[in-house]
Amino acid sequence: MRSLCFFLRRTATQRRAFSDFAAHSPPPLPVLIVGAGPVGLTLSILLSQYGVPSLLVDKRKRLPEHPQAHFLNNRTMEIFRKMEGLTAEIETKQPPVDQWRRFVYCTTLAGPVLGTVDHLRPEDLTSKRSPTAVAHFSQHHLLPLLYAKAQRLGQTVHKNYDFSSQWASITPEPAPILMGYECVSIMSNSKGVNARISASQGVTRQVVDLACQYVVAADGAGSPIRKMIGITMEGEAEMQKLISVHFFSKELGQLLLSTPEPGMLYFVFNPKVIAVVVAHNLEAGEFVAQIPFYPPQQRLEDFTSEVCHDIILEVVGKRDLAVEVKTVKQWVMHAQVADRFTDKHKRVILAGDAVHRFPPAGGFGLNTGVQDAHNLAWKLGAVIKGYASEALLATYEVERKPIAKANTALSVANFKAALAVPAALGLHPSAARVVHEAINSRVGMLLPKKLQSAVLEGIFAVGRAQVSSAFLSDFNPIAAVRVSEMQRILKEGHSLQLQFPAEDLGFRYREGALIPEVKQSPSRERVAAPMGRRLEYLPSTQPGARLPHFPIIIHQHTFPSSSNATCSTLDLVSESEIDLVLIVGCNNSGCTWTEAAVTSAKSLSVKVRVVIMWPPGLETKMGESEELSVQRRVSAFKDRVVHAEQADQGWWELCGVPDVGAILVRPDEHVAWRSLNLPDRSSAEHLHRAFAEVFPALASPTSTQQCA
Ligand SMILES: Cc1cc2nc3c(=O)[nH]c(=O)nc-3n(C[C@H](O)[C@H](O)[C@H](O)COP(=O)(O)OP(=O)(O)OC[C@H]3O[C@@H](n4cnc5c(N)ncnc54)[C@H](O)[C@@H]3O)c2cc1C
Repeated sequence: MRSLCFFLRRTATQRRAFSDFAAHSPPPLPVLIVGAGPVGLTLSILLSQYGVPSLLVDKRKRLPEHPQAHFLNNRTMEIFRKMEGLTAEIETKQPPVDQWRRFVYCTTLAGPVLGTVDHLRPEDLTSKRSPTAVAHFSQHHLLPLLYAKAQRLGQTVHKNYDFSSQWASITPEPAPILMGYECVSIMSNSKGVNARISASQGVTRQVVDLACQYVVAADGAGSPIRKMIGITMEGEAEMQKLISVHFFSKELGQLLLSTPEPGMLYFVFNPKVIAVVVAHNLEAGEFVAQIPFYPPQQRLEDFTSEVCHDIILEVVGKRDLAVEVKTVKQWVMHAQVADRFTDKHKRVILAGDAVHRFPPAGGFGLNTGVQDAHNLAWKLGAVIKGYASEALLATYEVERKPIAKANTALSVANFKAALAVPAALGLHPSAARVVHEAINSRVGMLLPKKLQSAVLEGIFAVGRAQVSSAFLSDFNPIAAVRVSEMQRILKEGHSLQLQFPAEDLGFRYREGALIPEVKQSPSRERVAAPMGRRLEYLPSTQPGARLPHFPIIIHQHTFPSSSNATCSTLDLVSESEIDLVLIVGCNNSGCTWTEAAVTSAKSLSVKVRVVIMWPPGLETKMGESEELSVQRRVSAFKDRVVHAEQADQGWWELCGVPDVGAILVRPDEHVAWRSLNLPDRSSAEHLHRAFAEVFPALASPTSTQQCA
C-alpha cells in the first residue's frame, strides 16, 4: 500500500485553506468517501484492493440496527465475490433459500393464505449464468461483514481519531474509516476539493479541513453533499410514505416455518390493517412491518411501541403472541435520479442513494448503488495511479445514469404491479391517495386535526372492509371473483416480481469507456421472451455488456497447471490490478492478436493481459501442431499471457464471437471492445484505439469514429 499524507488545516478558514490548496507540499488526500453505508463501504474496500489511498467518514457513531434493504441481486453478489470472499460468507449466513423464495398473500400471517408466488426457477440457483446467485441478507447484517472485510485489508475503524498525533503522520495507516465524523461543507475547483469534517468529542467539537483530489458522496437519499453542490433530483418525489416497524418474534418465525410455503414477503390485507411484512430471518424471528403512513393526519409519534405491537398482532391475526418491537422509523419512497452525477468541476462525485432513489419494489436501491461503486472504483484508481486522464471519470455518469433511470422505471413498474393485487381485492391504493390528498387540500385542512384523522381512518376502514374474512368468504360471489382475479395475476406473473435476470446481469453500457459497434449483431441483440414481467438474461459480449460467465480452468503462464480447479471467466479479471484483459482463441489468429496487443499496450503504457482460451481437454491437445505452435509463438510474452481452458465446449458460441476474434474486458468485467473478424493489418490500430478509449490520457489523439 502506498503511503499517503494529507493536507490538514485546523485553524484557518476553509476559504483560505482552499486557496492554499495547490501551494502545499503534502499531496492531497486522493479520495474522501462520505458515508459508510453499503455503497461507501464497498467503494472503500474496492479502492483498498487496488491500493488506492482513501478515507471514509460517517456521521454515525454506531452501525444501524434497523433493517433496510435485504435482497442482493446476482451482479452485486458477483462483485462481493471478489471482496475478500464476502459472497461465500453471505451464502453461509443467509437463511435457507426455501425460506425466502416466495411472496405470500394473506389476510393475516396466521392465515388464510390467498395465494403464493415462488420467484426462483431452477436456473436461478445453478451456476449456469453466474458463479453465484441472488441472496436474501439484510443490510444491517451486511454492514458488519463489510467492515470486517475492510479491516482484513488493513483498514482500521476509529471512533475517536486524534488528528494531531495520527492524522498528520507521514505514513498513516491505509484507508481509515472514521465513525462519528460528519462532512459539513464542501468547496471544489478544477484542482480539488476542500472538505470540512466535524466531530464532537465529549464536550468539544473538532473541525478539520481536508484537501482532497476527489470526494465521493455516498451519503444516502437525503445527501447533504448533493444539496451543497446544487444538484437536484428529477422524477417523482414522495410516492408513498411508510412506517417501518422492526420487531422480533421467535414464535411467529416458528409459526411461519411450520407452513408448507414460508416466504420472504407477506402481503397482509385485513379490515384492521394493510401491511407488507418482510421476513428478514424466520429462524431468528426477525421481521419488519411496512405500513402506509399518511402525515400530517398521522404522526410518527403516534406509532409508539404499544401501538405498533397492537398493529402487529392484527397483522398476525393472533392476540397471544410474544412480540418485541425494537425500532419504528418512517421513510419516504421516491422515484428519482439526480440531474448530474458530479459537481461542475467533476471533483465531487455522487453514488448510491445520493444519486438515485427508487421504490424498494425489485430491490434495486442497494444493488444499483453497489454497482455504481464498482463502476467508479477502477476509474478513480486509474486516474489516481496516473494510468488515465480525468476524462475517464466523465464516463461514470455517461454509463451509470441510464442504468439508474432504467432501474427507476423498472422499480416504478414493479411497484405499480404490486398494487394490482390489492386493486383486484377491491382495495384501490390510488383511491387512498386521492382521499388523503383531498383531506390535505385547503378545505380538508380546515377540519380540526383529530377530525381529519378520524375521517381518513373512517374512509380507509370502509376500504379495508373489502378484505374482511366475512367478505372474502367462499359464500360471497363478488369475493370469489376478486380472489380468482388476484390468483390469475399471481399465476401469470403480473404481480410484484423478485427476479429480473435481464436487468440484473444483462444491463449494458451503450457508451462510455468502450467502443460501441456500428452494426449491432441482431442475434445477440434479441430480446428474451417475456415470462410474465420477468425477462431472461441472454449472455452477450456486445461492448458495454458484462462478460458472460463460463466455467474455465486457469493455467496461468505455464500449463497444464498443477491445479485443475474450475473457476469463472469473471476470474480472469483481477481485483487488485487495474488492467485490461484481451481474450483470444488458441490459434494463429490468437497469436496475431497477442502480438498486436502487446505492441499497442507498450506504446500506450497500458497494462494488458492476454488470455489464450484453449478448448476443453487441453492435455490431449498438447501434442497437436496448432496448439504447439501457439504455445511457441506466445512464449515470448510469457508475463503478459494467461492460458485458460474451457471446462466445457461452447465459450465462443456463448459469446457470439468466432474463435478467431477477440474480446477486450475492462477492470469491472464489462466488455470494452470486441472483434468478430480475423486480425488483419489494422488490428493493432483497433486495439490501440480501444485501449485509449478505456485509458484516455495515455493515447495519442485518436479519432472518435466507431469501429465497424
Ligand atoms: C427505513 C428504510 C427501509 C428501507 N427498505 C428498503 C428495502 O426494503 N429494499 C430496498 O431495496 N431498499 C430499502 N431501503 C433503501 C436502501 O436501504 C438504500 O438503497 C441503501 O441504504 C443505499 O445505500 P447508500 O450507501 O447509498 O446510503 P445509506 O445506506 O443511506 O448510507 C449513507 C450513509 O451516509 C452517512 N452520512 C450522511 N450524511 C453524511 C455526512 N454529511 N457526513 C458523514 N456521513 C454522512 C449516513 O450516516 C449513512 O451511514 C430502505 C431505506 C430505509 C431508510
